Amino acid sequence: MARGPDRGEIERCTFCEKVRGQVDSLIAGPPGIYICNECIEICNSILHEEDRRLRTTKPKVDKSTAAPAGIATPREIVTSLDEYVYGQDHAKRVLALAVHQHYKRLDAGRRLQAKGDEPWAGVELEKSNVLLVGPTGSGKTLLARTLARMLDVPFAMADATTLTEAGYVGEDVENILLKLLQSCDFDVAKAQRGIIYIDEIDKIARTTSNVSITRDVSGEGVQQALLKILEGTVANVPPQGGRKHPEQACIQLDTSGILFLCGGTFTGIDDIIGRRIGRARIGFQAGSADLAEAERDLDERDRLLGELDTKDLIEFGLIPEFVGRLPIHAKVRGLGPDDLAHILVEPKNALVKQFQAFFAMEGHELNFTDEALRTIAEKAFSCGTGVRALRSILEDVLRDLMFQLPEYGAPGRGFVITGEMVKLGSARVLLEGGEEKRRERA
Ligand code: ADP
Repeated sequence: MARGPDRGEIERCTFCEKVRGQVDSLIAGPPGIYICNECIEICNSILHEEDRRLRTTKPKVDKSTAAPAGIATPREIVTSLDEYVYGQDHAKRVLALAVHQHYKRLDAGRRLQAKGDEPWAGVELEKSNVLLVGPTGSGKTLLARTLARMLDVPFAMADATTLTEAGYVGEDVENILLKLLQSCDFDVAKAQRGIIYIDEIDKIARTTSNVSITRDVSGEGVQQALLKILEGTVANVPPQGGRKHPEQACIQLDTSGILFLCGGTFTGIDDIIGRRIGRARIGFQAGSADLAEAERDLDERDRLLGELDTKDLIEFGLIPEFVGRLPIHAKVRGLGPDDLAHILVEPKNALVKQFQAFFAMEGHELNFTDEALRTIAEKAFSCGTGVRALRSILEDVLRDLMFQLPEYGAPGRGFVITGEMVKLGSARVLLEGGEEKRRERA
């Protein structure tokens, strides 16, 4: 390799030896060393490709016990999920195993192509997408999102209710694939190993009792339209989205390596299961003030959901072919007041930690008594929207306090939220001293 010139000699790239004038720019390093813009670009693409290869084969998990092939073990996946998602042990185990096997299958496919001499050569490992069933606000989306983040694979989310079969008003199913491509800057190879979460999948159930024709169109029709991409096909994705136009050059995306997770609440499926197994559920009045009764009802629903079978999904309105493409069922539990109290403080991204961070930014400390946490959890539970209610209750209680915090005076104050304040719906009482101070200053 030519060394750079001494003073007075021609300046040329140390790597490709092109001289200034042959390239757009030449950057000088230590005396006599240069690199041109073209070589920088080549280096960049080598690094990018190397990074992509590492990221797609090696999930971001504790490396000390990683499986030999570089794919996280189911236990490692569960441990990572535990950091962000409280409880849901069954769903975590089911998902972790499904994800582990999915990436193992992709890896095996590559090695089979390369060698073809393993004892299991010729065995076709089928793809197994996952159906997540459980009440709203119980962590289905969070599980899917956390999985994708820890595996560092592209992730896209879609709402089944916005989809329609081709030819009707609404989104084509290919647009889900477009979202996945967009999430990784149209890196097709990367997208082909991504995860797609389709929410509200129960809302595209066929409803024979429903007289609305449009509902049936967007229900069974959408299930039909999704069959192919769920199973694995080379789909034509219009890069600009929207409807396919003949003149638009489409991106070809092989969906056989994409893992689909479909989630839904499947309201009423517990009654279908109960009827099938001959165990009727005792009716429960939604919004009942009796917390114990509501918790018993939750437990009974969970027990029934534990018996979920493909027959129940078909009776609910999913077509058999569609159920067949979602062979793994992860049951997500309804969260009771105890769970909600834990969720307030335990996960890495827990709500209480988030609010404490806001207060810390203003130089103050925020704490909650155990009774306050319990009262927030019980209030949220009686709303019936799972974890989602926690944030609005906390926002209500802390709103006045947070509003005045920036002008509160000297930092270093500790605020303690009590059960009484939560019952009142505001921690305004803590401000009285502060208000006076503010008026004094004014
Ligand atoms: P779902 O998809 O089941 O309706 P989400 O996953 O969207 O519910 O959850 C709604 C909110 O509640 C999210 O902000 C999520 O972070 C939080 N959440 C739900 N379940 C849990 C859980 N088990 N652990 C921690 N946070 C949770």
